[in-house]
Amino acid sequence: MNPGQTQGHDLMTARDSDRSATGSIKGRLMVISGPSGTGKSTVVKRLADDPRVSPYVSISATTRTPRPGETHGVEYFFLSREEFEKLRTEGNLLESAEVHGNAYGTPSKPVMDQINQGGLVILEIDVQGAAQVKERMPEAVFVFIHAPDIATLEARLRGRGTDSESVIQKRLENARQEIAEAHWYDYQIINEFLDQTVNELVAHWTDLISQGA
Ligand code: 5GP
Repeated sequence: MNPGQTQGHDLMTARDSDRSATGSIKGRLMVISGPSGTGKSTVVKRLADDPRVSPYVSISATTRTPRPGETHGVEYFFLSREEFEKLRTEGNLLESAEVHGNAYGTPSKPVMDQINQGGLVILEIDVQGAAQVKERMPEAVFVFIHAPDIATLEARLRGRGTDSESVIQKRLENARQEIAEAHWYDYQIINEFLDQTVNELVAHWTDLISQGA
């Protein structure tokens, strides 16, 4: 999909029609944050393949350079700064933030289309972006994923082997700042055992859907 296709979408109109289409947004949108190295991407991948929830996982736009093996339109839409700013200023991003020196944002149209069709949506975004979504859609479910401890976090960041020492240090500092925001999330989960984390999230989600239906 070309991110330019999100043009002309009006968030407020979509929210109003969402309410008439589904009754409530509760249980339709799950926002997942957590520092790099907590394993949140793996958790999200597992949820994406889980038939109990079958969510649509939003593909973000970013100005970051692709890592080896990443493909435009799969992990991210990799955009130039100009392309990203165009999307943002034209109102086509549900939220956006600068993370680790790059811009990231959620294209609104695919997310709102899914919600309007009664689908479940996951956003994997940083705490700044999550705070913007909470302003606009307070009924979304906010989940913060922790590593078992900071040493595990650091080991996971180093183990990835894709980032330089300065990038790792930047990410660790960023992790501390993100953890300081965890208190306002609806759920905080320590991702020690992947299966357990996924099952907990599915259970929360199932509860919310039954309440919101
Ligand atoms: P990475 O570059 O390692 O894939 O992601 C870096 C950080 O950016 C992660 O914390 C990730 O959750 C966050 N991120 C990814 N997409 C978005 C987005 O669309 N909006 C915001 N605010 N953060 C994002």
